[in-house]
Amino acid sequence: MFVSLRRTANENKETTVRLLIMGPPGAGKGTQAARIASRLGIPTISTGEIFRSNITRGTALGREVKRIIDAGDYVPDAITEAIVAERLAEPDCAHGFLLDGFPRTLHQADALDRMLGVTGLDAVLSLVIDLEPLVARMLLRAKIENRPDDNEATIRHRMDVYTQATEPLLSHYRDAGVLVEVDGNGSIDEVSERLLAALDTAKV
Ligand code: ADP
Repeated sequence: MFVSLRRTANENKETTVRLLIMGPPGAGKGTQAARIASRLGIPTISTGEIFRSNITRGTALGREVKRIIDAGDYVPDAITEAIVAERLAEPDCAHGFLLDGFPRTLHQADALDRMLGVTGLDAVLSLVIDLEPLVARMLLRAKIENRPDDNEATIRHRMDVYTQATEPLLSHYRDAGVLVEVDGNGSIDEVSERLLAALDTAKV
């Protein structure tokens, strides 16, 4: 299914840009993803948002994942991979997309490699940021957004899960030659500018 999406895009000689943005919880991935995607005219696929929207709407999926997410744990790979596979098959993804928050485990990264083929991603943007100030930023966000997964113990747990399960993906993408590291410290505008400049340099 994904192979055929790819072929269609290539046959039409249209530009496709397939990106992934990574970074620890609270690094501002979602905000930056929305900015980059709108600049490039591609959809953002945020697994966190998909899960939250299902929870809000009280769907079967939402009921299944609520407790896991509230505890700061990862939703099982099989569920997450199926959701992304379905989303990537939608027509608006045919000319590119920006993944935000997926993959988060090596299993998910392998699944994505299978969905897209070996040269599937044009670039993986990695926000490099000091972990400690992030906790403070997330506590502030918790007050504003009232997210149940944003209390201090859960935030620390999410950082640990990130370090153990997700950080190893950086080497995976570095080895594949697609990792683009960007300084994630600073204002939202500063980071956006760095990201766009890095995409330019990487000729994406
Ligand atoms: P943040 O950017 O603050 O880490 P997200 O909105 O990306 O938050 O994700 C919120 C939560 O949704 C995660 O803590 C996790 O429980 C769940 N989640 C999102 N994406 C994935 C994924 N790829 N695999 C497993 N769980 C996920």
